[in-house]
Amino acid sequence: MEETMEREGKQVLDRLIRAGHEAYFVGGCVRDKLLGRPLKDIDIATAALPEQVMRLFAKTAPTGLQHGTVTVIMDTYTFEVTTFRKESEYEQYRKPKSVEFISDLNEDLRRRDFTINAMALAADGSTIDPFGGAEDLRSKLIRAVGDPHERFREDALRMLRGIRFACEYGFELEPATWDALIRHAPLLAHVAMERVSAELDKMIEGRAPDRAVDLLHRSGLPRHFKQPIDWPLSAREPLPAPIARGKLERVSGAELRWAALFAGLGMDADAAQTAMKRLKCSGKKTESVAKLLRVDAWMRGKVAAFGGGIGAPAETARPRPLPDETGYEWTALGCVQFGKAAVRDWLSFAAWRAEAMDERGWPPFVRRAADWLERVPVERVTDLNVSGGDVAAELNGKPGPWLGDLLRDLLVDVALGKVPNERTSLLERAKITAKRED
Ligand code: ATP
Ligand code: MG
Repeated sequence: MEETMEREGKQVLDRLIRAGHEAYFVGGCVRDKLLGRPLKDIDIATAALPEQVMRLFAKTAPTGLQHGTVTVIMDTYTFEVTTFRKESEYEQYRKPKSVEFISDLNEDLRRRDFTINAMALAADGSTIDPFGGAEDLRSKLIRAVGDPHERFREDALRMLRGIRFACEYGFELEPATWDALIRHAPLLAHVAMERVSAELDKMIEGRAPDRAVDLLHRSGLPRHFKQPIDWPLSAREPLPAPIARGKLERVSGAELRWAALFAGLGMDADAAQTAMKRLKCSGKKTESVAKLLRVDAWMRGKVAAFGGGIGAPAETARPRPLPDETGYEWTALGCVQFGKAAVRDWLSFAAWRAEAMDERGWPPFVRRAADWLERVPVERVTDLNVSGGDVAAELNGKPGPWLGDLLRDLLVDVALGKVPNERTSLLERAKITAKRED
């Protein structure tokens, strides 16, 4: 698959070169190739102007003409082909005000952020590496191209990118680059939250989320987000113990990771939701993360009220064994309230949390809950083998809010096993319930 990508990428280079234009693979793909990592995509830089690129290929899309980028569409893969450029003036520490097309590859590499991202690969397989990127790959260093102060003043997002690359590749930030980062942290206030959160997503969901949390905290960058977030990551105090212990990498799945992060930081569902809104995370992700934390708080509430010592890290009172019916009841009520999928996700979350926070009472509970969950027969009103219309007709009533409440009661009854999910029994039960509620 990747061979096909490289072959087609080479075809793009060849076509450009035969037409008399210099062309190279550049940026992330060169870095990843030298590291022997799989390539995500191949970016191409060329001396050809966008119009010339568009004329040379049968299928293209004008992706970002003003920045010099044309997407070339080959049989299987697409390639972003960008004209060598210089970013003349930067506007307010974020994006270049204007770009200037140039004919010199080295100048194009100079505008890039880090040495490991500022290499090019020629069609003959040779590397063009004016800033020592290959050496830094060997020494495992993230080093800004040229003067780090200038680089971060031009585009403050680069500071977050630097931490992200350090985490993703297990590299250190070269001391002068790190010092410049600390010094220019306040410039992050000029960067759009969307760009910030795209970087955070990659860090939290990436290879070394625990290190990302530590570096973010130590760098002070979170104190300078355009939209301030009130969380321990932006505080000067040491991080709360659960998150400082660092076990995020053991949770898999983006939403679980984020939920784990917030839990580890000691934030509840509401606090997490506020933070994610400020980060401009997608509504869907925000909802799922908040829901996980809500299920968690709800289950913990049940457990705490029962007082069996499950939730207590160090049990002093005599533990009370949890009867199967009680555990099943919580699980069934949880499914009706939050949906089975959310409770299932919560089980993975709870298993992680038990380990990360050393809550020894939880693992047996979680194991038993997996079994309870499978036994819950319904989660939504539409799972009932009777419709609202049937119930209304049976009770000679007009549909209204009462009907929704009644169906919910039936749902809970079925979930708890008090009545079978079967039409006649449900209608019988509806009559009794309706009478009781009169
Ligand atoms: P990945 O896609 O794995 O995150 P990448 O290096 O491919 O890493 P992209 O954001 O896809 O990163 O950018 C491609 C290349 O463009 C980079 O390798 C770098 O040379 C350059 N680049 C991207 N963003 C910036 C920036 N903010 N400042 C300077 N150069 C940048
Ligand atoms: Mg890329």
